[in-house]
Amino acid sequence: MIHRTEPVCQTPQWQQSLAKAITSLEGLCQHLQIAPSELPFSWEAGQQFPMRVPVNYADLIEKNNPSDPLLLQILPSFQELNHDPAFQIDPVGDLSHHPVPGVIHKYNGRALIITTGACAIHCRYCFRRHFPYAESVAKRQQWLESLTYLQGHQEVNEVILSGGDPLSLSDQALQKLLSDLAEIGHLKRLRIHTRMPSVLPERITPEFLALLTGSRLSPVMVVHINHPRELSESARQALKAIKQTGTLLLNQSVLLRGVNDRSDTLVELSEALFQSDVLPYYLHLLDRVQGAAHFDVSRARALDLHTQVLANLPGFLVPRLVMEQKGAASKLAVIR
Ligand code: SF4
Repeated sequence: MIHRTEPVCQTPQWQQSLAKAITSLEGLCQHLQIAPSELPFSWEAGQQFPMRVPVNYADLIEKNNPSDPLLLQILPSFQELNHDPAFQIDPVGDLSHHPVPGVIHKYNGRALIITTGACAIHCRYCFRRHFPYAESVAKRQQWLESLTYLQGHQEVNEVILSGGDPLSLSDQALQKLLSDLAEIGHLKRLRIHTRMPSVLPERITPEFLALLTGSRLSPVMVVHINHPRELSESARQALKAIKQTGTLLLNQSVLLRGVNDRSDTLVELSEALFQSDVLPYYLHLLDRVQGAAHFDVSRARALDLHTQVLANLPGFLVPRLVMEQKGAASKLAVIR
């Protein structure tokens, strides 16, 4: 009998779950117990930006309901093919603030590293759905270039890990990146933008939590949750575990027609976030990206909704209503 003595390299459970994400109309329809003809699915839209849904997120979608707000966020729809000239490939001007591959530096004091093009889920309204990740991601061999850029910019005290979703990287890769960043003396804060705690809660591994507690940099995590039903029990537990590391936890949502454009939904979302130790931070007007015009909520309606939310919540549970404008020095408050 042969005894194995060498360590067996195991793929982490979350990566195995990612590999089983739903990527076909057949798989989605089977999961949701719905006929393909009931859904406004477009093959062409799916070619332009493929569908990708983790099974545990698909479990949160109501069965046999073509209008479910979680389904609308992930379904390639024929509406994406209605081109509106106001909706552009690069709506927020990322490509003109790209000093070296992998770095976006738009705002004073903060710089963003595009760590990966990969996400657990593909959100149809994503402002980076046309982003040229192949040329722009800080691949590991390019981290050196990104790190050198940050070293040379003393005024930057906060580094933002974005993507794609930075938690698509392995814990080992993140550990290397975080320790390299911690060596840059003028950096004070590490901000991570991620949708993982709600769309794939098992990604929040003990090893990842240890990275947050072990860093010299003060951690801030900005999660992205649009609807109260995205806060499953496992998502809530993942968020509470992150909070226990001392990480400041904030949420940003995008205001999306048919998904969360009701004041009662927004109030319920803020209450559910607070119960999960997350503070509502931003409610964004949709970035006008090509293919997402059908999600747009007018500025006037957004302001009305925001006023109704203000009337029903304490101020600290009301996210700031903001928009991004090419060339502006920060996000802009949306006001009357
Ligand atoms: S998870 Fe974030 S980066 Fe990825 S598709 Fe969704 S919105 Fe875009």
